[in-house]
Amino acid sequence: MREYTLNLSMEELEKRTHKDYLVTKKFLKADAPEYAALADGDKEALKHLVRAANILGEINLHLDNADNVPFREFLEEEISKGNKQAELTKILFDAQKGINAIDTMSNPIFLAKEVGERLGRGVYPADLSVEEFHKILIKMLKDGKVEKVKNMLNQRSVVERDGGELVGISYIDKYKSEFAKMADELDRAAEVSTNEDFNEYLRLQAQALRTNDPMLDAYADKKWATLQDTPLEFTITRENYADEMTGTVIENEELKKLLDENGINPIPKDFLGGRVGIVNKKGTEALMAIKKYLPTLAKNMPYADEYEQNIKPDEETKQTMVDVDMVTAAGDVGEYRGGITLAENLPNDDKLSLTIGGGRRNVYHRQIRFISDMKKLQERLDEILDKDQHKYYLDEADHWFTIGHENAHSLGPKKGCEQLGKYRNIIEENKADMGALAFVDLLTELGMYTEEQRKQIIVTTITDNFLKSKPTLSQAHRVRTVMQNKFFSERGAYDIVDGKIHVNIEKVVPIAKEMLAQIVRIQIEEDFDKAEKYVLDNFVWTDNMELIAQKLQKISKTLNGRLETELADKLSQEGEL
Ligand SMILES: [Zn+2]
Repeated sequence: MREYTLNLSMEELEKRTHKDYLVTKKFLKADAPEYAALADGDKEALKHLVRAANILGEINLHLDNADNVPFREFLEEEISKGNKQAELTKILFDAQKGINAIDTMSNPIFLAKEVGERLGRGVYPADLSVEEFHKILIKMLKDGKVEKVKNMLNQRSVVERDGGELVGISYIDKYKSEFAKMADELDRAAEVSTNEDFNEYLRLQAQALRTNDPMLDAYADKKWATLQDTPLEFTITRENYADEMTGTVIENEELKKLLDENGINPIPKDFLGGRVGIVNKKGTEALMAIKKYLPTLAKNMPYADEYEQNIKPDEETKQTMVDVDMVTAAGDVGEYRGGITLAENLPNDDKLSLTIGGGRRNVYHRQIRFISDMKKLQERLDEILDKDQHKYYLDEADHWFTIGHENAHSLGPKKGCEQLGKYRNIIEENKADMGALAFVDLLTELGMYTEEQRKQIIVTTITDNFLKSKPTLSQAHRVRTVMQNKFFSERGAYDIVDGKIHVNIEKVVPIAKEMLAQIVRIQIEEDFDKAEKYVLDNFVWTDNMELIAQKLQKISKTLNGRLETELADKLSQEGEL
């Protein structure tokens, strides 16, 4: 067994695992009415889906960091010997689902002294530097090994050393037996679940897990994106925000030229998550309100006549949306690393299914958005927001904003924008936020929001643009928040009066439109230098941001978080019916 030195002291661990610092998000309980209301077949299917998700979570541990599994074994061994420090470390390991993560203050949380930051996570050799990576690729391309390089620079391969070269091995081949077991669980679920469309998707997905063929993924994704009225929710989430290695290739001029000449578009690697839940009918109905307006929004995007969009102005919208009571979130989608996402709009623009007429599907995570402590919320407002504007702060408005954000991912240029490298995700998230805000007036005119709701979305969003700490450049979801805050403050969207935010409500939407236009221009042009300048010009942590951050830190002590998945835990241990 590999040995490790635990990195966090007892004092640090006791603090971080204390309930004031470690928030618990509670998913459905074993006696949840949502579960009790399911048909017997769906209950049985749910069990298999939870198992499938758990297998995927194990696979993703490998993709995330090669030390994850050996380190967990080491912790378990130490715990069995009565090592208290290992026991507390294991709580954080399970919460962040891995050996290395970041906390809500953007501090790195590395659990073993021996394992530091790795740009290439578990999908590149641990000892591979960016320089060596580029050097090997250049040599291989000059030697005419184009196919071999192609196999490396895509979403779905693990890169390993191969003599003096590198080789890409597809995820499916690399973890063949695990994926096969997962496929069996999906097929079993498809035998008993009551919804034929859902079952067809599960079977397609199972096939895609058994054979290494990206087209099989595309067929499964295409079917998945049509699912609207199913009792159950199951998704393999595939997002590539965490790979910081692949994107570096476009920053090397010589390499970029060779890649262009050989027609290779490098796409960062996917990390995999398994989401299982029960579709909430009422919540889903509320989401659907926006659907009929999407073609109008597409028409009103900046420079709309210059590009193709996922949502077509004059066609039926190929986008489904569901609100889900969460049963489990395994792997990437369930890692608490500074937080857990409120919703996802998939597949992302780099995926093949979008090229064969597939649409997208939005899934909202109910249990993640529920606020457990209204008293804390009030304390926060008392500290940071002008008292006269408290009436416009509403946690429900944050959900409306999220709906706008997810849908805005489907607006704008329909392309992966890989040439923007490490700024690609920041700019895409920035677009989604500004899309949500820029259309608030239009959606109010069209009757989706009332005047009161309009003000609530604006004030809530500007208030929530203040973070508890300055993020690092790798946190796409936070960097864009700082950029927006800076952009808004310079243009007078808010003032800080006596240490509190006062939102100049009427200025917000026009500023959001201005920013959205800049973002879309960058996505159209796909010029790395322009993207870099735009991000660095706006990613500035101002004194006002620091002032509010200090106040937020006093109120919310949360540093880490975890999921409590009682129903899933019970189902995963049940025998066959
Ligand atoms: Zn987003």
